[in-house]
Amino acid sequence: MDTDVFQTPCFILDQQELIRSIVGYQTALRNCFTDSVMGYSVKTNSLPYCLCRAEENGCYAEVVSADEYELALLCGFAKNHIIYNGPMKSYETFIDAITHGAIVNIETHRELDWLQDLPQEGLFHVGLRLNVNISKVSLDDADGENDDSRFGFSDETDEFKKALDYINQLSNVKLAGLHIHRTSHSRSIRFYKNSIRYACETIKNYNLHPEYVDIGGGYFGIFDNKPTYQQYVDAFKDVFDHYKLSDIKVIVEPGNAMVASCFSFLSEVIDVKHVEEKCWFITTDGSRNDVDPFFRKSSYMTDLLTKGDNEVVEKQVVSGCTCLEYDRLFTINNYPLLSVGDRILYKNVGAYTMCLTPLFIRYIPNIYVIKDDGVELIREKWTAKEYVQKNVIR
Ligand SMILES: *Cc1c(COP(=O)(O)O)cnc(C)c1O
Repeated sequence: MDTDVFQTPCFILDQQELIRSIVGYQTALRNCFTDSVMGYSVKTNSLPYCLCRAEENGCYAEVVSADEYELALLCGFAKNHIIYNGPMKSYETFIDAITHGAIVNIETHRELDWLQDLPQEGLFHVGLRLNVNISKVSLDDADGENDDSRFGFSDETDEFKKALDYINQLSNVKLAGLHIHRTSHSRSIRFYKNSIRYACETIKNYNLHPEYVDIGGGYFGIFDNKPTYQQYVDAFKDVFDHYKLSDIKVIVEPGNAMVASCFSFLSEVIDVKHVEEKCWFITTDGSRNDVDPFFRKSSYMTDLLTKGDNEVVEKQVVSGCTCLEYDRLFTINNYPLLSVGDRILYKNVGAYTMCLTPLFIRYIPNIYVIKDDGVELIREKWTAKEYVQKNVIR
């Protein structure tokens, strides 16, 4: 890739790749179910440009806070094309969403209370999130002996049953769906089969008649040797068919699978230091904050865009631009020494990166899109001017 047009540090969106993921998953759903909805998980990458492309391509916005709800509206989603999840709903947006036909999955007791304030006339649809302990539902996919969850109402205690009973006695509210999102380590087909089975068993046990099951996110994107979207969806269908729920509306909320592979991050070498006999530190204008805000990754998919004609050295530690001693990204062994101006492209970094980047030392970087007709700057980097907005400084 010729990177001269990009001012570093920056993220680069491959628009075609984003659309390929969205359309790929939608096609798989339509092949198996007469009614399905694909929600774009806003928290995974909340870049407005991506939200608009998701909207244009028929996705709903899956939001988990009042701020995200407002963002989805600003980006053009109709209220009845919003899926509203999580504990951070505000009272106003909760009522607004339900009365305008959004898919609202109840997560907290206070939301149950808020239902009292819905208009008495009319019949309002809500969903309920079911607590899923992966160790109990799909042990082989669990992270440890007790891969429990702090989300949803539990059917192991009386909370789920109580929530059902409560909703049932409200004459203007109907339970329209169950929500079962968990992201398993394995992202395996088996995990989805087991968790959908758990949802279907719950539906059967309580004799529920939901319009939808919202399976949530947690899928692999398009990668060799990983399950395809069609394989995931075929597995959903197997289980729903088994429970005679073939006509159910299936909702999915992929985050990682939609946005990981369509974003790269480009940084540039700004200094090369020889610190020990066999070790060089390469300072770049990127940071671990940009590509690994949880500081958990141990390797990256990178392209080293270097002339490569320097002498080979034993060890180069590629480091970030912050003043944090531990802002070190990766080590290169036995490779030509990098030079100032060389560039490093980190691939597959669109999920849980730019939306989690702190405003530390330097503010949010440029974002470009590569489209069929060229390159465009879609978010200009923040400077001190944007940083001080809404501050009292005098
Ligand atoms: C985070 C989240 C998702 C997306 O999860 P991925 O693992 O990124 O696919 C979907 N639904 C809900 C409720 C979430 O909180």
